[in-house]
Order: sequence, then structure tokens, then C-alpha cells
Amino acid sequence: MISRSTIQKVNDAADLLDVVGSFIKLKKRGANYLGNCPFHNEKTPSFTVSASKGIYKCFGCGKAGNVITFVQEHEKLSYPEAITWLAKRYHIEIEETQQSNAEKEQRLVEESLRIVNNFATAYFQENLTTTEGEAIGLSYFRERGFRKETIEKFQLGYCPEAREDLPAKALEKGYQKDLLVKAGLVYERNNQLGAIYAGRVTFPIHNQSGRVIGFGA
Ligand code: ZN
Repeated sequence: MISRSTIQKVNDAADLLDVVGSFIKLKKRGANYLGNCPFHNEKTPSFTVSASKGIYKCFGCGKAGNVITFVQEHEKLSYPEAITWLAKRYHIEIEETQQSNAEKEQRLVEESLRIVNNFATAYFQENLTTTEGEAIGLSYFRERGFRKETIEKFQLGYCPEAREDLPAKALEKGYQKDLLVKAGLVYERNNQLGAIYAGRVTFPIHNQSGRVIGFGA
């Protein structure tokens, strides 16, 4: 865990205007700065930064927060990752507090689940472009009126009817069986592994920082 004093130092050093300004062009408007929002598409700037208050707000999409939430959202990072990102930028040494074994274990599991969920997202997306995926999955999305951009944006996918395919590909890549089961992607029956969502369209479920934490079908 990152120590409290490191977080405090990062909070003190991090300059919202500097950070936002490195991603988008800002113009001074009265007491605030204004630019095109990095979180939604716009031609007329509605993204406002108050340097004195250290907060931003977009009057187009409603996103608002401080320098840490900006880094989290913009770079798709967790809170500790955003702190690390800012610490690097402002040359602050990160001091870690001792982690218990249980905490370390928990972190490891979370990280492994994140990686395996990313693998599954890519796998489902790929399978939407196969003959089977197009015939069943893509045609279903089209009937529902989903456009190509929507399908891509929401990372929609398809899990092939051949149940053994996903576990086989995952094991081949070195992912452990237990992890696949824990992630809710694969079941085990009579020593055989099968994909839970076989023959169904899939959509990833994201957490607040935009990460895939599971799937729906
Ligand atoms: Zn916006």
C-alpha cells in the first residue's frame, strides 16, 4: 500500500491545470480555463478547469473531479495507480507501507482476474467476426439495431458454441484453470472444462475506472 504521507505529498504537488493541459488545449476564460472535453466528443468547449479550486467540470457530459480522478478516468487507472502516475510526474518517491500476506494475496488475485478478463474480452470480440459469430452474434446485434461503433465501443462479443474452445485457448495461453472458474468464464464438470457463455453474445461489465470486472450474456 502507498503510505498516507506519499498520498499527501502527491496531493500537494499535483497541479490540475498542468496535468489537464498536457492532454488538452486550455484557454483562459475569466477565472477559469476552458477546453474541449477529453471524455466526450464536442466541438464547442464545455470542459472547465478551476486552477484555484483544483477541480474540473464538463458541462456537456457532467464529468467532474480533481487531479486524481482526472488521471484515473483519463488514463483508466485505479486510485493507487493514479497516485503512482502523479508521483512519477512530480518526482515524488513512493513510500509503501507493509502489506499483510492476505492483502498481497488479494491484490494478486485481483490483478490475475483483470488480466484474464481482458483476455476474454478480446477472445469474445474476435469470435464475433468468425462465420459462426457473424451468423449468430453479429446478426443478433444488428437486428437489435446496434451499429458497428456501438458494438466496438461496448466491446460486445460472441462465445462460440464449441464449449471447449475458450478453456483450451486460455490454458494454452497459460491461464490457470482455477482462475478461469473464479472469473466466471469456465465451468468444470466430469473433469471437462466448458465456456459458461457458449453460443451466446457477450458484453463486458466495467467498474468505475473502466475496467472489465465480469461479463453478461
Ligand atoms: Zn464532457
